Amino acid sequence: MGYFRDSKRVVVKVGTSTLTHNTGHLNLRYIEKLVKVLSDMQNWGMQVVLVSSGAVSAGVAKIGFGRIPSTPEEKQAMAAIGQSELMKMYDKFFSDYGHTVAQILMTKEVLSNPERRCAAENTFCRLLEMRCIPVVNENDSVSTDELTKFGGNDILSAYVAELCQADLLLNLTDIDGLYDSDPRSNPDAHLIERVETIDDSIFALAGGAGTDRGTGGMIAKLNAAKMVTEKGIPMFILNGKDPDILYTLLDGGHVGTYFTAKKND
Ligand code: GLU
Repeated sequence: MGYFRDSKRVVVKVGTSTLTHNTGHLNLRYIEKLVKVLSDMQNWGMQVVLVSSGAVSAGVAKIGFGRIPSTPEEKQAMAAIGQSELMKMYDKFFSDYGHTVAQILMTKEVLSNPERRCAAENTFCRLLEMRCIPVVNENDSVSTDELTKFGGNDILSAYVAELCQADLLLNLTDIDGLYDSDPRSNPDAHLIERVETIDDSIFALAGGAGTDRGTGGMIAKLNAAKMVTEKGIPMFILNGKDPDILYTLLDGGHVGTYFTAKKND
């Protein structure tokens, strides 16, 4: 069907469980592979925006904190430590493949203030025109409340896709897509390839929260899908364990679950 054929600007979201080992440390082999494929997408002529989690986990691992941060202050501190570690690796690997990264840390209030929103939009636009790859995360170190927090990078990626007028949002996760029942308990569960309308019956298929080290989960992904598809942007949920899966889409194949965009008149 050639999902990428009409997609010049693509936002790719990757979660903590995909980017890190069980130790919490960054999975460098994985990150390098992902960076290679994303660089190839840029070389192919696309504009890639990467929404990356992993900062808190990398911070915890780096200083040997030994447990999941339990207070907001601890989490903010870990994010501050881990974010630079994360960017160091993206900078290194993207440079190896001939590309330039640019860090953008977002808070929700940026979007509710028209001037700041416009400034953020312009920054994305300029960076993409300059063929740079924006690497976006929530500004966890200063986001504390409902006004500033997105509540996870699934939702952040939906806002970013809208902000930079993306043609497609790809949510790379640790499951193949949306199933008609829980594949961990039901071996007969079927992957749903295409969702036209995200209604209560679709939300009823989603399980609970995500992993210990990330905050996602299927409900957050469906909320993100509902947000972007209503803005006319289609979205995939697909298994990111092997980033080469993106080549299947590039070659015109189908993987994961595709949420069709609502036609806006
Ligand atoms: N922003 C968090 C981090 O970088 C991740 C949030 C999420 O998992 O959605 O650690």
